[in-house]
Amino acid sequence: MNNHITSKPTPLSIRIEAFSHEILQAKHLSLDILRLDEIHPIISGNKLFKLKYYLEDALQKKCHTIQTFGGFYSNHIVATAYAAKLCQLKSIGIIRGAKPDHLTPTLQEAEAHGMTLRFVSAIDYQTLKRNQGFFDNVYSIPEGGYGLLGAKGAAEILSFTNKSYDYIVCAVGTGTMVAGIINSSADHQQIIGISALKGAYSLEAEISTLLKSDKKNFQINHDYHFGGFAKHPRELLSFMNKTWKDNMLPTDIVYTAKTLYAILDLAHKKNFKNGSQILMIHSGGLQGNHSIQNRLNFYGVTR
Ligand SMILES: *Cc1c(COP(=O)(O)O)cnc(C)c1O
Repeated sequence: MNNHITSKPTPLSIRIEAFSHEILQAKHLSLDILRLDEIHPIISGNKLFKLKYYLEDALQKKCHTIQTFGGFYSNHIVATAYAAKLCQLKSIGIIRGAKPDHLTPTLQEAEAHGMTLRFVSAIDYQTLKRNQGFFDNVYSIPEGGYGLLGAKGAAEILSFTNKSYDYIVCAVGTGTMVAGIINSSADHQQIIGISALKGAYSLEAEISTLLKSDKKNFQINHDYHFGGFAKHPRELLSFMNKTWKDNMLPTDIVYTAKTLYAILDLAHKKNFKNGSQILMIHSGGLQGNHSIQNRLNFYGVTR
């Protein structure tokens, strides 16, 4: 079986890059960015980590098809389509909503990687999600890769860093990535998850379900959603363009721009101890900028 995603990886080289900003300097803070966005153009960022153990499990159980769940703009759908193709597995995407006349670029890409799309109503989507399991050789991966196997994969993200960081900050969607990071963190490290969703206060409980029982060194911040999931007011886009101009760092509208903004704002508001070392996980997602590429000054420049 050809499984170059799940077999022992060829050593990935992942860059850690220093980010400078006057707000950080004023508080004697250092900020490094773990550039997971550079791993792969399609299964970028955290998605590869989150999918790894599900795929391994599917191959072990001799399934021939992977099924997963998502919306019209889901990075997880595209990543799963591509990863399944690499593992020579068929893939099915259960998509929430009626089939649109024109598929979004995300869904077009998933189809191009061989995924069969099934459009279902919001109600059917919830039912299918609840009854997912493993049947007829179809292996179901939960929406967004949420689950213990997803968190187990995400726990490997920190193996590319050292333990010197006082704070580790990352974006939160389903909370799977942050759960993995908390599980693999040292107790002296404080993990801060920045929610990309508005008022998703069930996240704390959903994350706790994935944690080793003794882990308490984290907080989820709900203040930087910029209006809600995938909302991108002009203020956020200017911040992204400025970050590219000043630091040559590309960010995405859904997750990482909000996370970086949050770090600088929290630094400004004295939420980090003076002199601390901070690590931000750049979890990828840049292909999600496709829909607003004409309003960004860096789209397409980076790769
Ligand atoms: C999917 C995604 C996330 C969210 O990860 P969760 O594990 O669902 O919390 C964060 N950042 C980017 C860029 C993503 O694509």
